Amino acid sequence: MSALRLCGGPAWKKLLSDVETVLLDCDGVLWLGNTDAIPGAKEAVSHLRALGKRLCFVTNNSSKSRDEYMAKFQKLGFDVNKSEIFPTGYIVGQYLKHTAGYDGKVYLMGVEGTKQEIEAIGCTCFGPGPDVLTGTLDDWLQMSFEKDVGAVVVAYDCHISYMKMIQACTYLKNPDCIFIATNEDPVLPSNGHIAIPGTGSMVSAVRTSAKRDPIIVGKPHTPMFDCIVKHTNLQPHKTLMIGDSLNTDILFGRRHGLKTLLVLSGNTKECNLEGLSSDKLPDYYADSIADLIS
Ligand code: PLP
Ligand code: CA
Repeated sequence: MSALRLCGGPAWKKLLSDVETVLLDCDGVLWLGNTDAIPGAKEAVSHLRALGKRLCFVTNNSSKSRDEYMAKFQKLGFDVNKSEIFPTGYIVGQYLKHTAGYDGKVYLMGVEGTKQEIEAIGCTCFGPGPDVLTGTLDDWLQMSFEKDVGAVVVAYDCHISYMKMIQACTYLKNPDCIFIATNEDPVLPSNGHIAIPGTGSMVSAVRTSAKRDPIIVGKPHTPMFDCIVKHTNLQPHKTLMIGDSLNTDILFGRRHGLKTLLVLSGNTKECNLEGLSSDKLPDYYADSIADLIS
């Protein structure tokens, strides 16, 4: 079995006729980093809406809350409702509330957007911002820590530091302390000239020293899927996942019984599909979501 290349509107139309719900990855499908929308992406989203499809916007990026994403979608001109946006920070909050039944104190290695989502479900959350270690090992051994921290969350943190790792690993010494990570993306999208570490590098650092495996909520893992199902009641065989990454988006779709479509507008090139075993391939691929309206 190989992935089927979709060329032009009629091929998309046939695929979409079997689909009620479309899950759209964001970076690489709708936009690239902090740039404007990918040409044609807004029109494609509007077209999907006009066809009556239920839409969900599914991103591993934990740097923004749902409200902050709403502002970004509006600024870029996308027609989106807040209830359709599923960033990993939001999934962490939903997991803590509905799956873990936890509303206590959370140590967050992350940024304000994730903190907002964790506090929105009634938890107390601390951690974002710079936190620098001073002194020597003898001083560190005398350090005092917060009491009653029942959950550690590792998310995207542009202020990652040794001090933060000490805190995360110390709270995780308590086996009852819940350990959650948003996602394991190895690098952030970049212009190709530099490599910017992604949340996966931060998760690996804590996982190694805490000697514990986190519950990972983002794509390709199941908490993201469960949360979307809970909000939408989607039927997997009538759902299409569109994404630009094989290891997150396409694997997420395959694992959960969705139809999968890879777009080449982000971090995967057509040559990356060569030699892949059939269990790693998408069902379909296309240059860009914009092809839908061509
Ligand atoms: N994590 C961070 C911090 C990011 O900045 C990005 C993309 O910008 C991602 C993850 C990947 O996001 P997506 O799942 O929308 O491709
Ligand atoms: Ca992506």
